[in-house]
Amino acid sequence: YLCAVLVLNLDRFKVVNDSLGHVVGDQLLRAVAARLLDCLRNGDSVCRFGGDEFAVVLDDIEDEAEAVQIASRLAEQVEQTYRLDDAEVFTTASIGIALSDGESRSTEDMIRDADTAMFRAKAYGRGHVELFRRSMRMDVLEQLHLENDLRQALDRNELTVHYQPIVSLDTGLIESFEALVRWQHPDKGLIGPTDFIPMAEETGLINAVGQLVLQRACTTVRGWQQRLSYPGLGISVNLSARQFVETGLLDQITETLDDVGLDPSCLKLEITENLVMENSDIAANLIEALKEQGIVLAMDDFGTGYSSLSYLHRFPVDTLKIDRSFVSQMDQADNGLEIVRTIIALARALRMNVTAEGVENANQLQLLRALECSTAQGYYFSRPLDEASAERLLKRKPRW
Ligand code: C2E
Ligand code: CA
Ligand code: CA
Repeated sequence: YLCAVLVLNLDRFKVVNDSLGHVVGDQLLRAVAARLLDCLRNGDSVCRFGGDEFAVVLDDIEDEAEAVQIASRLAEQVEQTYRLDDAEVFTTASIGIALSDGESRSTEDMIRDADTAMFRAKAYGRGHVELFRRSMRMDVLEQLHLENDLRQALDRNELTVHYQPIVSLDTGLIESFEALVRWQHPDKGLIGPTDFIPMAEETGLINAVGQLVLQRACTTVRGWQQRLSYPGLGISVNLSARQFVETGLLDQITETLDDVGLDPSCLKLEITENLVMENSDIAANLIEALKEQGIVLAMDDFGTGYSSLSYLHRFPVDTLKIDRSFVSQMDQADNGLEIVRTIIALARALRMNVTAEGVENANQLQLLRALECSTAQGYYFSRPLDEASAERLLKRKPRW
C-alpha cells in the first residue's frame, strides 16, 4: 500500500493580495480549491493548510510516477487563467511530494518532507513539482542555521558595506559608488550577497538588512562629501522586491536622508525590471513619490528581466544599468556590441542616463566611450572595496 502527501503553495500569492486586494485574493483561493477538488479521485483528500498553502493526500497509488503525474496535472490546472469577479488572474503552484514508503516515517514526517520538497520546487522558479529526497533535509537545516545566524549578525554588527566606484566617462572621474553588502560570518568568513540575500528576502530579514545598508552607505558618503571635498558624490543602493512592497519604505528613506544630512539627489536607488513588473501598481506610485523627493532611480541589470519596453514609460527611471552579460560580450560576439549600442540609443531617446556594468578591460571602456555611454562600473576601475580602501582610492582622485 502506497500513499503520497502533496504540499502545494501558490507562487507570488502575496503579489495578488497586495496589488489586487484581499477580496480578489480570497476569490482566487476559493477558485484554486475548487480546481484541486475537480482533479482528484474518490478517496483522495485536499485541505487548506493556511495562507496560500494546500495539502493533498493521494490514497492508494501505484508508484512514485503516478504521484508525480497527478501533481503535474494539479499544477497544470492551477495555471489556467482565473476569471474572477473583478479581475483576470494568473498564478502557478509549487508542489512538493512525500511518499509513504520513502524516507518519511510518520504522518508528521510526511507533511514536513513534502513541505521541504515544496520549498525546493520554489527555489527552481515557478510551477515546479519536486519529490522529496533525504539530501534536501540537510539543505533545509543549513538554511535554518543561516537564518538564525543572520538574525544575530544584525545585532552583532557582522554586516558590512563595500563600495564600488562608478566612473563618469566624460570626465574620467569617480562620480558615485554602489553600496554592496557583505557578511563577515564568524565561522564561514566573508559571505557575498548572492548567498544570503535570497534567504533574507524569503524570511523578511531583508528589511532590516536594507535599512542597515542604506543608513551606513548614506552616512559614509556624506562623510566623504564633507571631509574629502566631493560635494556632489553619489551613492547607489540596491532595493529588493520585498522592501519595495513594504509600507513605510518612503518614510524610512526620507528620514535616513534627513538624519544623515544627505541631499536626496545624491541617493540613487537600484531596482530591477522584474520588481516593477510584478508589483506594478505599488511600483508606479512609489517611483513617483521617490522622484518627488528628488531621489534618483536606476533600472538594474537592464536587459535580463521582462524587458518589456512599454514599462519604461510607466516607470520613468533616470538611469539604465546595462547588465554585465552584455558588456562582457561587447568585444567578442558582434551581437554584444549591437545590444549595448541599442540600449544606449534607447536611453538617449528617453532622456535617461546609462551605466555600463562589469567593465573589465580597456577595450570595453574604449568601445563604451565611442558609444557615448555616460557612466561605467567594473573591475577594470576597481573591485568593490571596504570603506577605508574606498576612501584611500577617492583621496588619490584617480582619472580614467
Ligand atoms: P548588482 O546590483 O548587479 O551588483 C553588481 C555585482 O557585480 C556585484 O556583485 C559586483 O561585485 C559585481 N561586479 C562589479 N563589477 C564587476 C566586473 O567587472 N566583473 C564581474 N564579474 N563582476 C562585477 P556582488 O557584490 O556579489 O552583489 C551581487 C548582487 O547582490 C548585486 O548585484 C545585488 O543584486 C545584490 N546586492 C548586493 N548588495 C545588496 C543590498 O544591499 N541589498 C540588496 N537588496 N541586494 C544587494
Ligand atoms: Ca545594483
Ligand atoms: Ca546590476
